[in-house]
Amino acid sequence: MKRSTCNICHFSIKTCVCHYISPVITNKTTIIILQHPSEVCVAKNTVRLLNLQLDNIQIYEGESPSDFFIPQKIATSSHCALLFPGENALQVENIDKNLTPIDTLFVLDGTWKKVNKIAMLNPWLGDLQKVSFSQLPENKYSIRKAEQSYSLSTLEACAHFLSCYESLNVKPLHDLLAGMIHEQTKFMPADVKQRYFNEEH
Ligand SMILES: [Zn+2]
Repeated sequence: MKRSTCNICHFSIKTCVCHYISPVITNKTTIIILQHPSEVCVAKNTVRLLNLQLDNIQIYEGESPSDFFIPQKIATSSHCALLFPGENALQVENIDKNLTPIDTLFVLDGTWKKVNKIAMLNPWLGDLQKVSFSQLPENKYSIRKAEQSYSLSTLEACAHFLSCYESLNVKPLHDLLAGMIHEQTKFMPADVKQRYFNEEH
């Protein structure tokens, strides 16, 4: 039987992104994604792209502490941080790596509402050093509502962190994102395409 999903990138055959994948980026900081279940089947799933392009990434799906048993254990070790805005958040552009070494970065994936829910249900996340951005990189992929200050896709947020903290060349991530957008919008009429970019999923 013909498969409708590519078994490498897991996007549909029609929107397969395999030819946009570059040699894998070897990031030192382990990226741990806590992904809300409502995000997993979303077509514009940028975590799936991160997983294809980053060497050092773990993805856990769930909402409550019992879903995150393993990451919760990892979080008790030192040098973990959480990518999340807040008053006491360190700005990734200005972090002194000697004073604040980070070897594991937790990132929450979902709509802003779902991300807040994960944060609320998992008080253990509050013990982690928060890391944020002093200036947001240009948002090429507007999938979050405009009024939200933290309006980057998870891929763009991780790319910005890795570019600042590890000085990595993250162009392959942006290229892969652009490739996915191209594949998903290439047959769309202009008005539908506009909605694709504006809609919160
Ligand atoms: Zn593919």
